[in-house]
Amino acid sequence: MEAEEIMHLECLKLSVERRIKLLDDNYVEFKLNGSFLKNAGIMGLLRMLECNESEAIIGTDYIIEDRTIKVSKDYILKQNLGYLYVKSLVQYYGQNTKFMNLYNKKGMVDSYMLKDERTDDEMKIIADSINEMGDMLLKNSFVSGYEIIDKYTNATTLNVNRIKEMKKEKDVSEKYKIYCEIYELLEQKEVQDILIIKDLMYTKLNMFYDSISFFQPSNLKSDIVECYNKEFVIPLRDEIENTKEGKKRCIECRRTTNNVKAISFINQTDDVNRKKSHYWNQKADALACPYCSFLYSLVPLGFCFTGANAVFININTDVERMKEMMNKYLLKDDGERISEKSKIYRVFTSEAADMVEKGLANIQVVVKMKEHNDYDIKVISKDIVEGFRIAQTNAIGKNQNRDTDKKGILTMLEKINVKTDNGYINVYDMAMECILNRRSLYYVFDSMYMLALKNGSRVNYLKNVLDLQYIFRGGKNRMSDLKEMSDKAYNCGIYARTRLTDTKIADKDNALRGVVYRLENSLTIGDVDQYLDAIIRIYSSKGMPIPGIFKEMMESEESFNAIGRGYILGLMYEKYDPSEKNEERKQEEKIYE
Ligand SMILES: [Zn+2]
Repeated sequence: MEAEEIMHLECLKLSVERRIKLLDDNYVEFKLNGSFLKNAGIMGLLRMLECNESEAIIGTDYIIEDRTIKVSKDYILKQNLGYLYVKSLVQYYGQNTKFMNLYNKKGMVDSYMLKDERTDDEMKIIADSINEMGDMLLKNSFVSGYEIIDKYTNATTLNVNRIKEMKKEKDVSEKYKIYCEIYELLEQKEVQDILIIKDLMYTKLNMFYDSISFFQPSNLKSDIVECYNKEFVIPLRDEIENTKEGKKRCIECRRTTNNVKAISFINQTDDVNRKKSHYWNQKADALACPYCSFLYSLVPLGFCFTGANAVFININTDVERMKEMMNKYLLKDDGERISEKSKIYRVFTSEAADMVEKGLANIQVVVKMKEHNDYDIKVISKDIVEGFRIAQTNAIGKNQNRDTDKKGILTMLEKINVKTDNGYINVYDMAMECILNRRSLYYVFDSMYMLALKNGSRVNYLKNVLDLQYIFRGGKNRMSDLKEMSDKAYNCGIYARTRLTDTKIADKDNALRGVVYRLENSLTIGDVDQYLDAIIRIYSSKGMPIPGIFKEMMESEESFNAIGRGYILGLMYEKYDPSEKNEERKQEEKIYE
């Protein structure tokens, strides 16, 4: 190599090094790691940087590199991050609040008021809608919001007495007049933002934290942006500007820092209460640097809310992929009445299936349920996604079931709710829990079957549960064999049902109940002899030949389970009867068929 060339290369190397150094100096790095909470914080940070009001320019203000987001120090020092925090919460979750829900009812109320004449029912709808709005506006959390609006914004705030008057007013046109007047105040953007945040505080944010400053009683009437900045942004800026090497160590990222904060403000594990008491006793042992605390404050922004739950897909290898996956959940909360779990896992049976099958190995699905303190973590692997695909196209075995041809097996189960002593159980939820925990689905089958025997509900949908068992627990080679055996036995059961019971007996189930109980019991205790004994009695009592399929039951436990359950399902099979008198059963069947 020529000397000149070497010189040139050296120069180039130097300039690259200098640029990297410059980059390091000018940017703060946030890197995905093993902890799902911090990763959710990084997702939240990205959402904040990309919200409508952020003005952040990708490539300049922030850079995404594989598993890292770099944010320019300049941006952090100059932007009002507290304001962006509020704005992004409103942007991403505002539409799914009670506030917006009632706010959007105005059009409906107007349309009734515009009519020349109104029925009593319509008058009642108007009054109820207005009162519902009034009740919400009189909640303490909202009332404290009116003071914030008054003190910290240029908007005209709401008057509590006027809201009370609106509620008390009996005359509908007068009531409507006050409603319109109050509504006009609610149309102000600043008012909306504050009330939406007040709504989110007690419905969504409190699933993750409820002890940060703007939740504290003394701050309920303070500006939320200011509270947030004081607690999270100022320490962050101080740390950036501080040139001295810190003396404290962050428990999260291990970097030395000048300032630490107890991270017990965020729900971390299942023993939140213990942690909380530590916090209140000022004995918090987990202290984190301002960077990590800042990320934790953004955790709620990183999750997506699906009905009563919040979900986060923890992909710690790639920021872009994580974003792509999480975006599938945004705007998904359409209030559809399907099972809670299907709102979370449906993505993996549809849009995201390809993503998993073509690259990502295992995906961690983190779910925060409203009524639980802890996070529920499930791993979705390639083989599970493959199973979902088979279940949705029902591609196993030869004996295609008519019912499942129309829709995927999982979709069929989404709307099946079975009545129990204490409410309803959703079958999809139960099945999904078994699939993800790699447990046998016979558990779902048996419990639902017993329940049906008890309360006389239909069981036809359980055919889908059996098929899921063969898909997920059958193993690749046995999958279609097991289904074939089970289907044969199922058809034998249906045939036997018509022959064993007198057609004059109106209620076939009652006639069969004793037999079915005995068979189901033999299955749950795994006693093949007892099962066969019962079968022999049934067939010989009617002088009917015993179907050959029962011989195969002796081959293995798997065969026993498949044939045994297929058969008892057939015995309980019921054809759809539109003239069905029992309304509840009719309803149930309608959902299913
Ligand atoms: Zn840290």
